[in-house]
Amino acid sequence: MKVFKFGGASVSNVERVQNLASILRSYGDEKILIVISAMGKTTNALEKVAEAFYQGHREEALRLFEQVRQHHLTMAKYLLVRNYLETEAQLKDFFTEVEWLLHDKPQKEYDYYYDQVVCSGELLSTTIVSAFLNETGILNSWIDVRDIFRTDDNFRDAAIDWTTTRRNTEQRILPLFDQYNIVITQGFIGATDANESTTLGREGSDYSAAVFANLLDAESQTIWKDVEGVMNADPKLFPDARFIAELNYDEVIEMAYYGAQVIHPKTIKPLQNKGIPLLVKCFLDKDLPGTVIHKKTVKNLPPIIVLKEDQVLIHLHSKDFSFVGEKPTGELYNLFSEIRVKPNLMQSGAVHLQVCLDDKPDRIGKLALAASENFEVRVEKGLTLLTIRHYDKDILEKLTTGKHILLRQQSPETVQVLMR
Ligand code: ASP
Ligand code: MG
Repeated sequence: MKVFKFGGASVSNVERVQNLASILRSYGDEKILIVISAMGKTTNALEKVAEAFYQGHREEALRLFEQVRQHHLTMAKYLLVRNYLETEAQLKDFFTEVEWLLHDKPQKEYDYYYDQVVCSGELLSTTIVSAFLNETGILNSWIDVRDIFRTDDNFRDAAIDWTTTRRNTEQRILPLFDQYNIVITQGFIGATDANESTTLGREGSDYSAAVFANLLDAESQTIWKDVEGVMNADPKLFPDARFIAELNYDEVIEMAYYGAQVIHPKTIKPLQNKGIPLLVKCFLDKDLPGTVIHKKTVKNLPPIIVLKEDQVLIHLHSKDFSFVGEKPTGELYNLFSEIRVKPNLMQSGAVHLQVCLDDKPDRIGKLALAASENFEVRVEKGLTLLTIRHYDKDILEKLTTGKHILLRQQSPETVQVLMR
């Protein structure tokens, strides 16, 4: 059995959904579990709906949701003939679920409503794609992953309950493969034991697919993207970015950790635990080989470049010139987890600490305020964090000349430079 994940870009318009069908045809009658994201930028659009609702702008929320609704109905109309009416009825059930909620007044926390609204993107996209494939003769079964993925109620970043999810997968997914070669379900979402919808964190569909690959002991997982495979840098920023044919799990975990937007960071572990290879392939040209990620050591990797914009540097200086020892540092780490921020880089000296973080203004504000109890605090914004793995002198020089460097950390493998 194989597991495929199709991201939002791969189902963003009619031609691409049709293209997905031709990719599947080339796999003959192999058994494939398919995880699909919301179409195109739907998740962003639904986030706006949730925000408007939570700020008490009901009309605005309904108006924004109406656009999402129309867009999906249009897609369905273009793609479907025989199955249109039946599919429209299914889509309407999902629309109604959200619209009902939007008529309420927000009483619970924002993250709860976010998940109830945003989860509809994946339900809508998979419903349309599944109906289209059935109509074109690629028979498949659609399943609501909220009946399979049991999670805790940490909305917007829910954690999978593996025991229940494994049982559901064995009892409800596996038998479907006796009848169908293809099972279609949603990425990114799940449900609590009280049947509240949850999401697993933005871009979480890669991870959903990996959970299934693990539970189904898949022979491989394939992520279909609009690029040739994994590149050594973001091709939008570096036109001479190079394709990498082969990587090992650890390298990808490192890349994701430093902020490369390749694969959701949680994806690797479920695959690594069972030695399941991950393929990153291009849906625009299915015959390209793509990147293989597996456990073998890979030598001679090119420099891998990750740029993170919108960084802040917080300078902390101990107020009474006492040393920044374990206690203040420990307290600072507690603050990080309380405020839910993750330092990208940290450096300490005798009486000062410097912390580089993503610029989330409200959280940075909170952090600065709380830290000002023990420290003199100064915040610098608008910085860029450059990380290069497998660097050499030339590439480092090329990417840092003319920059003002504020912080630098270096190991034989990796160099990080915070610059302006
Ligand atoms: N649709 C979700 C997002 O855009 C999940 C995903 O695409 O992986 O974040
Ligand atoms: Mg996506």
